Amino acid sequence: MENEKKSAEYIANTLKSLGYDVQYQYFPVADQYIGSVVFGDGTKWEMGASPAGKISDAPVKAEVIYVENNDFANVEGKIVLVARGGTVADYRNQVAQAIEAGAAGVILQSVVGSRGNYGQTFNPSLTEHYDIPVFGASYIHGEWLKEQMEQERVELSLTAKHYSDLKSVNVIATKEAKTKTKDAKEVILGAHHDSVVGAPGANDNASGVGLMLELARVYKGYNTDKTLKFIAFGSEERGLLGARYYVDQLTQEQKDQIEAVFVPDMVATNYDKATNLYALTPDGRQNIVTDSTGDAGARLGQFGYPSW
Ligand SMILES: [Zn+2]
Repeated sequence: MENEKKSAEYIANTLKSLGYDVQYQYFPVADQYIGSVVFGDGTKWEMGASPAGKISDAPVKAEVIYVENNDFANVEGKIVLVARGGTVADYRNQVAQAIEAGAAGVILQSVVGSRGNYGQTFNPSLTEHYDIPVFGASYIHGEWLKEQMEQERVELSLTAKHYSDLKSVNVIATKEAKTKTKDAKEVILGAHHDSVVGAPGANDNASGVGLMLELARVYKGYNTDKTLKFIAFGSEERGLLGARYYVDQLTQEQKDQIEAVFVPDMVATNYDKATNLYALTPDGRQNIVTDSTGDAGARLGQFGYPSW
């Protein structure tokens, strides 16, 4: 949340320095429970914490061990790292077993998602209250921990915090159409500026924000016959909250003026030969955004036109 605030400030300052009037649009978001994992050398990671686990500043300090095949025989006094079971019921069962066996803390590792994507941090949903911290780690957190545990004994210090009365923010810059008529259309270029807990958000989505800021810089020098809006949305990762709030605040008339919305997300992937640009649309069909993106790619000679 602190980081989301910083990113909003950075974006607003950049847009202001380009000469735009910038508006902040605040909206409330649900409480967050964030677990903090500190290593012996002071390295700190963030994970999702279960609200039903121990939420406290008082650290739980113990050695972490990796449990395979749900064999919780030797976990007494230890922080358990375990790949989460496939369903919520499965991982609740894992947590119950670990606690029954005397674990000092539980870290559930996300697994690789169905589309091959790395699982992210999460807040374990438990039905019972426990007196130990129960965290949801990203897949990669779990892998890094295991790597380190192969080298040496790893001791961790776990604390967790409940954040309430949270606000998130959209940052909005407008470039009015050259001639402002009543029916001037509007094009929105939006990119979310938040990230998930425990990730710096370099690709998802500082890359999209970077593209948006660069286009804001370039377009500042042009007269356009459409109004352009550059919007950095907050809290996308929590369910498109910023974008939903933005739309909810518009009148029907304002909605009708919108002709196209471009939302770059993860445009700086480090995959080999990233020659595909994936364009998702609300109804899965071709539209003005996919058409104009394909045309632009063709003009650059970089991309073939997508097939549908
Ligand atoms: Zn994203």
